[in-house]
Amino acid sequence: MAYRLSPARLWREKDSRYRLVGGMCRRCGRRFYPPRPVCPYCGSKSVERVELARQGVVETFAITYTVQEGFRDQAPIVYAIVKLDDGARVFAPLTDVEPEKVHTGMRVEAVVRRVRVDDDHGLIAYGIKFRPLRPAKSGQ
Ligand SMILES: [Zn+2]
Repeated sequence: MAYRLSPARLWREKDSRYRLVGGMCRRCGRRFYPPRPVCPYCGSKSVERVELARQGVVETFAITYTVQEGFRDQAPIVYAIVKLDDGARVFAPLTDVEPEKVHTGMRVEAVVRRVRVDDDHGLIAYGIKFRPLRPAKSGQ
């Protein structure tokens, strides 16, 4: 069955899909990503969805040179655990950075980027990535 995405539909979905929405536990107060019905820290089911901070620091990372079909044009990929400014941790790939320049403690911000292309159907998927947060320079 054909499934058509109208521009209006894409625009509406953009709001919920492209924001960085995670969970916040009402019992222990911790935030986490992705959102889930049970707090991964204390097991409480009293969890609400919140919009997470979009900036944070690289806590740890790994570089992979072996990538799946559909990701080949993006190799190597650097995956990082980013600790957001509100304390949530997000596992996501980095973008717009040379792998050898990635370091722990590097400040990054969340961006929405193409993550997969289906060559047979021309499908493009989007997801959260993080890119270096460049210090503001005068004259730019
Ligand atoms: Zn909790």
